[in-house]
Amino acid sequence: MTRSPYSMLIGSQGEIYKCYEDLGNKELTVGNINDPEVWHNYELIAKYAVGIDHYNDPECRKCSYLPICRGGCPIRRFENVYKGKHNDCCTPFKGRIKDYIELYSKILND
Ligand code: SF4
Repeated sequence: MTRSPYSMLIGSQGEIYKCYEDLGNKELTVGNINDPEVWHNYELIAKYAVGIDHYNDPECRKCSYLPICRGGCPIRRFENVYKGKHNDCCTPFKGRIKDYIELYSKILND
């Protein structure tokens, strides 16, 4: 949602957001469906789309989970990159892929 150029959320007043966590925070709107020609907050859109790209993260680039992890929650990564936080963005299955596959298989076969 957050990083996709084709995904957005619509608030109750028609306001457009890029992330569930932004919903209701008017400062984080990127437009309004009642005025579809007007977009704003381009800096936020660019940060979401490009600034938090996990393919630019040196740790992710050398991680074998990258293709399936997809870099974790974009907002947690955004907080790390732009707000100095230290959220763990890694998939909870990192280091436990065997357990995950076994559980997945069990669920499918039950
Ligand atoms: S598991 Fe962690 S280091 Fe690996 S790709 Fe996902 S976020 Fe990046």
